[in-house]
Amino acid sequence: MSLKPYTSNLRVAYFSMEIALQPEIPTYSGGLGILAGDTLRSAADLELNMVGVTLVSRAGYFQQEIDSEGRQTEQADWWRPEDYASALEAKITVSIEGRSVWVGGWIYILRGHTNGREPVILLDTDLAENNEEDRKVTNHLYGGDESYRLKQEIVLGVGGIRMLQALGFRIFHHHMNEGHSALLALELLHRNSFADEDLRAGETPYLATIREQCSFTTHTPVEAGHDKFHYDLVGRMLTDFSDLKLLKKLAGEDRMNMTRLALNLSETINGVTKRHAQVSRKIFPEYAVRAINNGVHPATWTCKPMAELFDSYFPGWQHEPELLVRADCCLPDELIWNAHGLAKQHLLEGIEKITGQRFDPTLPVLGFARRMTAYKRPDLLFSDIDRLAQLAREHPFQIVLAGKAHPADHGGKRLIENLHNYMRQLKGVVSIAFLPNYSMATAQALVAGVDVWLNTPMQPLEASGTSGMKAAFNGVPSLSVLDGWWIEGCIEGLTGWAVGEANQSDAARDAESLYHKLEHVVLPMYSQRRDEWIKVMKGSISKNAAFFNSHRMMRRYVTEAYIR
Ligand SMILES: *Cc1c(COP(=O)(O)O)cnc(C)c1O
Repeated sequence: MSLKPYTSNLRVAYFSMEIALQPEIPTYSGGLGILAGDTLRSAADLELNMVGVTLVSRAGYFQQEIDSEGRQTEQADWWRPEDYASALEAKITVSIEGRSVWVGGWIYILRGHTNGREPVILLDTDLAENNEEDRKVTNHLYGGDESYRLKQEIVLGVGGIRMLQALGFRIFHHHMNEGHSALLALELLHRNSFADEDLRAGETPYLATIREQCSFTTHTPVEAGHDKFHYDLVGRMLTDFSDLKLLKKLAGEDRMNMTRLALNLSETINGVTKRHAQVSRKIFPEYAVRAINNGVHPATWTCKPMAELFDSYFPGWQHEPELLVRADCCLPDELIWNAHGLAKQHLLEGIEKITGQRFDPTLPVLGFARRMTAYKRPDLLFSDIDRLAQLAREHPFQIVLAGKAHPADHGGKRLIENLHNYMRQLKGVVSIAFLPNYSMATAQALVAGVDVWLNTPMQPLEASGTSGMKAAFNGVPSLSVLDGWWIEGCIEGLTGWAVGEANQSDAARDAESLYHKLEHVVLPMYSQRRDEWIKVMKGSISKNAAFFNSHRMMRRYVTEAYIR
């Protein structure tokens, strides 16, 4: 395949450990990868010149199976790159533990709704030239131990830069989506062939030259989200870069902190919501962390019946989602209600097919789906089972749940078991379904088909959250804790409802607020004041979908990070 159309103009290289390219390709674990996919999908729609760089992750993240006790087991999720992508002609090497490891790969072309096309490089070490162990380096997304992860990050950062060059790409800016790819900046430093003395003298102007070419987006204040590697491991593995003194200066004295490295070698640094940028500035006070709010890709996350409605009332909305700002006054109630009804029917059919449970389409469905981990508090809704049961007797509703726990997150796995426990306790009182193997496809059905999207994280740990934005595109209001994007997205009673209070994290109070809102506001409005309900549905589209989309996000990255 000729790369000419992609190498003839200057591009921004977008590096991410995971990218959700399409539902059939399991090269993502959750929000970060979905955002990376939405980034490139918007770039394609807007015809921005970019190129994605990621690992091929042949074994995917994992397929989740859940037994009757709610115990999660994981299976490799193999996919065949040759079915979706073309083999690259170039191969390069990176040095790992003093060995030359060969890196080849694939090129996947992401198509926009216009003529825009974004090439995505999927780096692959499964080559005959490599030993058995090295061939597996690009198999498992977030699998293996610390040394496996470091090898992956060497392939992504160092290998990614070398591959782009070998293929003839002309890159004027590099965007690090999280710190996993920060070694790319070291490689840039290396290949700018500054004299060793200059480097050792430290500081500018050499580092400034690199910084000008790099942007960094941090995605979480959660400690585990920031990779740190012991220097004895780094010294053993990263044999291309021998200047440990410089490395410690850039990445931290005690361990190689990938976030520090990215922070020190990037000119523009951003968090993903206003609150997250604020929290990040507190964690990293030496750096100017700005906010570029996340968004979701309009066409990917709007269900078909709703998209058809938008097509007829707001032609061009896929390119210019701002047009949806008129949804509140211009969309007929009946049409939006019917479009949602079709999405709900589709979801309920899916639930029945997968779990055998039959939901009542006339009753409201609450949806909660995301990574299962402690700070997301999937169990908050169940903190008082008797109260929840009583609530369901007075105002019947149904619940659908989904989410994977990282294989090493035992707390997360226990949460899934607990949820199954609650489901058993509430049997006959509340219909609750848990859909196994949460994925992009499940998310598409869920965010469109439920009536209320629930999010109850522990403040201030939800940097953004994007699934509620997806719900907004489908006219589904959120009922959420005031954290992440919801601080900016919530207009009480107009786009959805708040759980608890801003800047106050207290599980008992949040639970109390959640029950109170359901009992006195949300459920009665759904069953008794349909026109008011539809007004909230429209508010979520006009106020939130019009703003929290990845087109707006990309226009901001271009003007505030890539071109300055
Ligand atoms: C959107 C999405 C996420 C992220 O959702 P949050 O609200 O940020 O937790 C995770 N997984 C999948 C499959 C998604 O589609």
